Amino acid sequence: MENTVILQSTITCPNCGSQKEETMPTDACQFFYKCTKCETILKPKPGDCCVFCSYGNVACPPIQINKSCCK
Ligand SMILES: [Zn+2]
Repeated sequence: MENTVILQSTITCPNCGSQKEETMPTDACQFFYKCTKCETILKPKPGDCCVFCSYGNVACPPIQINKSCCK
């Protein structure tokens, strides 16, 4: 399968507004993310599977390739 999956996502912290580019894991969803600036622990919003779907500019890899995500 030749799918172009973007693995870099820029997370925007809802608390302090800082942005950080992170590499997403391809085989699992990342449920927690700690802001590198204010050290707030981010969790997915209701209905989202991971922090990248909630706070990143790119959805997580399973969503990009139309697989249902881990729920
Ligand atoms: Zn922050």
